[in-house]
Amino acid sequence: MKVTDHIKEAKGKTLLSYEIIPPQKGHGIGDLYKNIDPLMEFKPSFIDVTTSREEYIYLEKGNGLMERKISRMRPGTLGICASIQYKYNVDTVPHVLCGGFTKEETEYLLVDCLYLGIDNIMALRGDAMKGEKYFEPTKGGNRYASDLVTQINDLGKGKFLHGEISGNDLNNSFCIGVAGYPEKHLEAPSMQYDLKMLKQKVELGADYVVTQMFLDNQKYFEFVKLAREAGIDVPIIPGIKPLAVKKHLQLLPQVFKIDLPEDLVNAVSQCKNNEAVKQVGIEWCVQQCKELLDFGVPALHFYTMGKSDNIQKIVSEFF
Ligand code: FAD
Repeated sequence: MKVTDHIKEAKGKTLLSYEIIPPQKGHGIGDLYKNIDPLMEFKPSFIDVTTSREEYIYLEKGNGLMERKISRMRPGTLGICASIQYKYNVDTVPHVLCGGFTKEETEYLLVDCLYLGIDNIMALRGDAMKGEKYFEPTKGGNRYASDLVTQINDLGKGKFLHGEISGNDLNNSFCIGVAGYPEKHLEAPSMQYDLKMLKQKVELGADYVVTQMFLDNQKYFEFVKLAREAGIDVPIIPGIKPLAVKKHLQLLPQVFKIDLPEDLVNAVSQCKNNEAVKQVGIEWCVQQCKELLDFGVPALHFYTMGKSDNIQKIVSEFF
């Protein structure tokens, strides 16, 4: 079922959803199940599964030299989507990237999604490759998420890369999610510019937005206001990540280009150990969720990042 249909059916009630990441290559799916098992009793409406870009790895050749190879270290997005969908009977949303994929490869992946009964796609550009400063589009691939949205939407109308197929018997139309940034995407020259690009994604066929994580709700409220003023009228789902370890004070701003509220920074700085930090993170997140529920958000979307005990505590307060 499409994410937007879940939202419509809920008639204003806030839904629950999670984002999970595939295991490192070579590891089984068991640990992933162990992490999400305790979260399933709260009946999420959908689960996103991330896709990782390929990266350079360096292998010792035994003669003192290193060999550089390229590899995707967390493959298996679609397989995990299919497994979860059938194990838990929950809708899954594979993340599909521009970076690292040709348009042909993307088309094959979308066709697989159709056969697997996957109705939703999160369309993303992806970041620059590790160690590279700027995002370089893959040869023969999409440059921006908006191009990917167009490709997905075209396929929905029977327009494949080799030509149009009329009267086909597939129901090709996907519900498309895209990313939004309450604190602006790092490469965008201004918030207004970024919103213009977001609006373009929606005009080209995106059905809903999921935001980058934020720890200050005011950033989300302001973003929704600006988006509505800019004419973006699709659901804007807040992405939520509870702070869990002291290292997050540096890591979250560095990786996700977000600001942390001063009160939270002070509270975490005073913690003697990571157990105390986790508790502060849980309390902060519960307060965030209360305010977001009062605001009437369509869903609370939790970035689990392979950990579930703190999220379980937070979610159990509301669902
Ligand atoms: P775009 O929408 O293409 O925007 C990228 C930049 O280009 C922005 O600055 C925008 O303002 C600008 N821009 C957009 N369109 C145009 C245009 N037509 N002309 C000129 N400028 C333009 N990354 C992963 O690798 N894997 C994941 O699974 C993943 N999941 C994510 C989930 C969510 C909810 C979010 C918020 C992010 C996720 N990311 C993921 C990170 C994302 O790939 C990066 O933030 C990436 O840098 C931008 O992706 P985008 O889809 O927002 O790009």
